[in-house]
Amino acid sequence: MQRRTTAPMVRQTPVKKTKKSRNGIEITCRYCESFTHAEAKYRMENGVRKCAQKGWISLETPICDEFKPSSIFYCQKHDHQLDLLACANRREKHFEGCVNCKQGKVIEKIIEREKEEADDEENNEKE
Ligand code: SF4
Repeated sequence: MQRRTTAPMVRQTPVKKTKKSRNGIEITCRYCESFTHAEAKYRMENGVRKCAQKGWISLETPICDEFKPSSIFYCQKHDHQLDLLACANRREKHFEGCVNCKQGKVIEKIIEREKEEADDEENNEKE
């Protein structure tokens, strides 16, 4: 079998300029389980990975309906893997650099989204 020598091209889907994307708080594939746990053979050096849903995706690919947040993400400011809730906790406790962190705001949005989905499910079960 021939080994791939160059990273695949990833089509950049134009992101619609909504109020949310204008302030830069956009959840992207980098925060998805599929991205975080992609097998080594589906990881390229330029951050491109393969997902069963969309094929080759980048860190900035907008999420699809199958998005499931990974419990950990790569914190660029502190240069290490971090639990989503640990990030929220750091922001709450005003850790240096965390309060106005753009990535931290994305994490906050993911946590809110999960809570909303859990509430919706609970309400649907009650009906
Ligand atoms: S394409 Fe969908 S399932 Fe795949 S990493 Fe992105 S959000 Fe997750």
